[in-house]
Amino acid sequence: MTDHPGFSGFVRVRGAREHNLKDISVEVPRDALVVFTGVSGSGKSSLAFGTLYAEAQRRYLESVSPYARRLFHQVGAPDVDAVEGLPPAVALQQQRGAPTARSSVGSVTTLSNLVRMLYSRAGDYPEGQGIVYAEGFSPNTPEGACPECHGLGRVYEVTEASMVPDPALTIRERAVAAWPQAWGGQNQRDILVSLGIDVDVPWRDLPRDTRDWILFSDEQPVVPVYPGLTPEATRRAVKRQSPPDYMGTFSSARRHVLHTFATTESAAMKKRVQAYMIETVCPVCHGKRLRPEALAVRFAGYDITDFSRLPLTQVAELLRPVAEGREEGHARRLRERPEVAVAAQRLAADLAARLDVLLRLGLGYLHFERTTPSLSPGELQRLRLATQLYSNLFGVVYVLDEPSAGLHPADTEALLSALGGLKAAGNSLFVVEHDLDVVRRADWLVDVGPGAGEGGGEILYSGPPEGLRDVEASQTAAYLFRDTRAGPHEPRAPSGWLELGGVTRHNLRDLSVRFPLGVLTCVTGVSGSGKSTLVSQVLAQTLAAHFGQGTAPGAEDVEEEGDDVPAATARLGGDVGTLSRLVRVDQKPIGRTPRSNMATYTGLFDHVRKLFAAAPLAKKRKYSAGRFSFNVKGGRCEHCQGEGWVMVELLFLPSVYAPCPVCHGARYNAQTLEVEVRGQTIADVLGMTVDTAHAFFGEERPIFQALDTLREVGLGYLRLGQPATELSGGEAQRIKLATELQRAARGHAVYILDEPTTGLHPADVERLTRQLARLVEAGHTVIAVEHDLQVVAGSDWVLDIGPGAGEEGGRVVAQGTPAEVARAPESRTAPYLARALG
Ligand code: ADP
Ligand code: ADP
Ligand code: ZN
Ligand code: ZN
Repeated sequence: MTDHPGFSGFVRVRGAREHNLKDISVEVPRDALVVFTGVSGSGKSSLAFGTLYAEAQRRYLESVSPYARRLFHQVGAPDVDAVEGLPPAVALQQQRGAPTARSSVGSVTTLSNLVRMLYSRAGDYPEGQGIVYAEGFSPNTPEGACPECHGLGRVYEVTEASMVPDPALTIRERAVAAWPQAWGGQNQRDILVSLGIDVDVPWRDLPRDTRDWILFSDEQPVVPVYPGLTPEATRRAVKRQSPPDYMGTFSSARRHVLHTFATTESAAMKKRVQAYMIETVCPVCHGKRLRPEALAVRFAGYDITDFSRLPLTQVAELLRPVAEGREEGHARRLRERPEVAVAAQRLAADLAARLDVLLRLGLGYLHFERTTPSLSPGELQRLRLATQLYSNLFGVVYVLDEPSAGLHPADTEALLSALGGLKAAGNSLFVVEHDLDVVRRADWLVDVGPGAGEGGGEILYSGPPEGLRDVEASQTAAYLFRDTRAGPHEPRAPSGWLELGGVTRHNLRDLSVRFPLGVLTCVTGVSGSGKSTLVSQVLAQTLAAHFGQGTAPGAEDVEEEGDDVPAATARLGGDVGTLSRLVRVDQKPIGRTPRSNMATYTGLFDHVRKLFAAAPLAKKRKYSAGRFSFNVKGGRCEHCQGEGWVMVELLFLPSVYAPCPVCHGARYNAQTLEVEVRGQTIADVLGMTVDTAHAFFGEERPIFQALDTLREVGLGYLRLGQPATELSGGEAQRIKLATELQRAARGHAVYILDEPTTGLHPADVERLTRQLARLVEAGHTVIAVEHDLQVVAGSDWVLDIGPGAGEEGGRVVAQGTPAEVARAPESRTAPYLARALG
């Protein structure tokens, strides 16, 4: 296949068998944009990430650590005979499962460092103040942290009222609630008895100085303790100096609370003591977390904290004149303090150039302090991509996973030019992608298929895009080369209207909107325009509160979203009375540990366990359904406690999981695995794909039906036991959708979805749209944030938010049937929608 003169070199894969790959061999060019296509589950990721990236990673690790080499024997290197010509690789994969580390836009992009440098070298200092070094602008360093709050921005204090909620109680009755429970609290009480303090009078009757000492003292006297004795007997024992049970150390309640808060590693303990503290904004830094000297330095009139909270577009505007040496007073400064003027210009130019990359990727509405857990996976991936763009590496392969996720078609152009920039710098790009606009721009396509799971895993085509046209078996070819215009579609008429008024959150200001009921609505707009804020947050939370539902599923995540704003609600009106329930189908993980999986989440596994408990051998041994759970003692493997994996800690490297040496990943103990249903163990069932299980459980109605729905949302390729942490956001969302589709839905529900087509091949999108139509036909309302124009064109109503992102968005730009919105003059969606409608 070396008859492709346009390319400088090739990566050659021979005999790849990772996951479902069928011993495939393929060659892809270097220094090119290579796009991997195919239906969900066909094996694109197994090739791009599981084989190519994993192999590059393995080589890298082996070169740095001989220990890692041994480990790969255990964990398993990618199953491939040979990979030749592979450059070092960088993966920009979308986060699966929950994001862990708490960082910010500024730290992920490393731009915060530059901003600190800018403030240090080129900021305006008050008369007579010495220079503050760059570290002095970081709240995470001793040089920078506000001395009062240690860089937290908040201070915690304790008061008598916070630690002694009920002063009518005696000390024996636990008046000092802040002291530890159980033995620790008793110990402090016994110490007070030894010290001669009356523990049997109401707290409020103790003298003021005694109370203050107990609560706030820094002294820690060590005294003899006689736990069994009455106060009277204790007094005598102390006097006689009888040998005590032990010597106890006193600790004031404040000391206990603050010390525990600062040092405990237990989240529960921390939470308990926090309940006795009063949190206030730090009076010294006013929540800005920095020393006064740092906050006194200004750039363009802003202190560094305010500067870091401006949208990046605005930051870029402030920097531009400085970068070009035409800000006010430039000439004077150049005369008086040339070194400052030169540094300012150079740093501002550098920062502006880097920001430009972020702006071009449509991220200008973010600000440096925005925390990463509050970003969507697509936004985070584009941030990382931008960081790579200005890190000036070359000769690297970037492996990306659906970079167009969350992008409005108007933003996709910018993404393509960013990818073009990486390529021009001498890098290779391997991209798993469904968006046909990206697929069309590839230099080389690798189409994997034809189906998913066992039905896929073959290379249908590898070559320049045009050549795919003649590949009959390819589902991608069908969509890429045929007329994709939606054709005539008669929008359904709404059965009523839901009104939402007074919506104020993020960039939405007192917005009023209405949603049609009984139809499919798509909410569109560029990234950052306010779609998720409106639909997934305010609408969802308001309806949840209205129905008294809580925000479940996913309610437990609210805290981790990094959003300090409490649940937002707005005014509801219109025909809300005709609605009975909210169903939220979002991309949040279905579980946070490998213990949850699709089978447990959908409830399907309960039926499977009952089936196993009814097997003859299980009956004879009196095994209940619980015996077949890997989450409780009994039937599971105790070595790994039913996880199937054990964690191996590596020095200097991220720890890795290795299969459990006892059960070899089966999760169950040997006795449990002796029970079979039609020749399969419970572990075998967890290892089946939905498709295989669908054939296997043909007779068992409830199991069969659950599997049927999972196949209909395009998940036939997933294994039943695939841990929740391995599922992508799109897969998690489709599992939730399938679970909801199965519920006998009574009444009229509102379904809220967040970009349900993420991770779906156009062929899968068609199936999904049919499912959504089914819900609408059953009388329900479906509201989806969506970019896929096929879906938008086929919907009944479009609500276009914008026109721009952040402060330039947040308004309803157009609303109506797809045809009406396609003609709206101000809408950025209109031209794309018009084209999709044909
Ligand atoms: P795609 O990227 O095309 O959606 P994948 O490469 O993710 O497809 O999956 C291809 C097949 O490999 C599917 O049947 C999937 O269930 C299986 N698979 C994916 N990840 C794993 C894994 N970690 N262990 C076992 N099988 C997996
Ligand atoms: P979309 O869904 O259209 O991409 P979003 O609703 O996510 O847009 O964002 C709208 C605006 O609200 C943007 O300016 C964004 O930066 C801001 N925003 C979104 N989430 C948060 C958050 N958790 N904290 C602060 N600002 C946020
Ligand atoms: Zn402070
Ligand atoms: Zn085990």
